[in-house]
Amino acid sequence: MIIQENVPMSEHTSFKVGGPAKYFIKTESTDDIKEALLFAKEHTLPTFILGKGTNLLVSDNGYNGVIIQLGKFFSEITNLGNGKICAKGATPLARLARYTINEGLAGIHKLAGIPGSLGGAIYMNAGAYGQDVSQTCIEVETIDNAGNVRTRTAAECAFGYRHSIFQELAASRESAETILSATFQLASAADLGKTAKDLEAEMQECMTKRRNSQPLSMPNAGSTFKRLDAGAATTPTQIAPGYYIEQAGLKGYRIGGAEVSQVHANFIVNAGGATAADIKTLSEYVQKTVADKFGIQLKREIILLGEF
Ligand SMILES: Cc1cc2nc3c(=O)[nH]c(=O)nc-3n(C[C@H](O)[C@H](O)[C@H](O)COP(=O)(O)OP(=O)(O)OC[C@H]3O[C@@H](n4cnc5c(N)ncnc54)[C@H](O)[C@@H]3O)c2cc1C
Repeated sequence: MIIQENVPMSEHTSFKVGGPAKYFIKTESTDDIKEALLFAKEHTLPTFILGKGTNLLVSDNGYNGVIIQLGKFFSEITNLGNGKICAKGATPLARLARYTINEGLAGIHKLAGIPGSLGGAIYMNAGAYGQDVSQTCIEVETIDNAGNVRTRTAAECAFGYRHSIFQELAASRESAETILSATFQLASAADLGKTAKDLEAEMQECMTKRRNSQPLSMPNAGSTFKRLDAGAATTPTQIAPGYYIEQAGLKGYRIGGAEVSQVHANFIVNAGGATAADIKTLSEYVQKTVADKFGIQLKREIILLGEF
């Protein structure tokens, strides 16, 4: 286990912004995780579990705590048979989705374009194109900050739209849990009257939609805001934050180097030299403008870390 000091978080986030983490520890075993947690406790510093940093905005002031990231040991997929697949926390979701297609299994194959890790996907209940991880996840193995490993059933993960129990647990050092692995029960393509090639085609169709609708050539962290509750609006367009942001005339609006994407209004991009403060200020400006114009409160999907 290597402990690094003053590691720029701009190197670990898809926004490519963020100041230094006081300590950065890459872990290769559960013992490493326990050690890293102990190290933080001894230094009376908070901890943050980093996935691939694709849903994260880290302050320009950095993070005065210990960033813990799962290393290569935690990137592994096991086929348990009968449609059950277990993957460790650092496994790229894209790799997992492609693996399941090759095994002729359906259920998470449309998530291949989400650039995060499995741990981040479980924490966020990531999803796209009608699939999210909670639909097929049956259990999640975690380690708490006292070093206890436990298995939570899907019900115990309290999944909701872009929500899991792990978000509440992360609020305090005592309750926070690190996601070590997750197991999925997937459907055999054959049982659905499909082949692996059909699943591949469905995945490719989703990838094409992404390429055509998202600003993938510029640093970003995916959707800035969560979809609206069905109660607030009813049609698919009306639950999309991007619809209101575009109607408010904010596409292309810029603060410093941060820009409301010209391609997809619910994305903020780092158009060059953006600071985390630019991105946060722009997201707040968008929230205020949409609230003033439409009386709608947009809720941020992107997670903020550090003092702003
Ligand atoms: C171009 C682009 C497209 C995207 N498209 C989508 C999409 O279609 N659908 C979607 O849902 N999201 C999308 N996202 C957002 C993002 O990829 C997902 O939220 C993803 O699940 C985050 O995973 P991560 O590993 O990057 O997590 P991070 O950003 O590193 O962390 C996110 C949260 O998860 C927690 N976390 C991460 N790993 C663990 C772990 N092992 N144990 C405990 N907590 C953990 C972190 O502490 C943090 O609070 C997109 C992002 C980009 C940049």
